[in-house]
Amino acid sequence: MSVLESAGGFESGVFETNSEQETIELGRRIAASLRRRAVILLIGNLGAGKTTLAKGIVSGLGAAESDEVSSPTFTLIHEYGTRECGGVVNRTSAYHIDLYRLDRAEQVATLGLDEIFDRDAVVLIEWGERFPQLMPAARIEIRVTALDDDRRKIEVVNCE
Ligand code: ADP
Ligand code: MG
Repeated sequence: MSVLESAGGFESGVFETNSEQETIELGRRIAASLRRRAVILLIGNLGAGKTTLAKGIVSGLGAAESDEVSSPTFTLIHEYGTRECGGVVNRTSAYHIDLYRLDRAEQVATLGLDEIFDRDAVVLIEWGERFPQLMPAARIEIRVTALDDDRRKIEVVNCE
């Protein structure tokens, strides 16, 4: 993985990865620089690597193993991180949302995203940029672009 540009920390910068595994690794590094509460739009074409990056971020947060993270294409929302430890149930620490299958803002409104945005959690959203009026202004945007079969450009912008 190469760092093409970096503006202090990992929250803003341009990176290039050469494999799925490197993108997962970058996701873990991004996770390490996140606050407990964050909304992240994962932006890019189908097959760019948004879900792959989500695997890295969710596993980097310690909310689940990377192979436990699957695309929420049909279920729309996956929740990770509710764990029992010594009888204590910890709060959920990550949500992974995919709005690809929704066309209208009214459909998205029924999901209750505002309530999720209010939680102490990292919220990852694929295709959220299609509904800008429903996304919080304070957010991180990550753009994933396929350069060829295995190379991806990953731009992280902190809009907070
Ligand atoms: P999206 O969620 O954007 O539709 P996925 O993460 O589900 O995309 O799929 C990305 C696909 O691209 C996977 O099949 C993955 O193996 C492949 N791939 C190849 N190189 C990379 C890379 N550098 N980073 C991420 N995925 C890659
Ligand atoms: Mg996906």
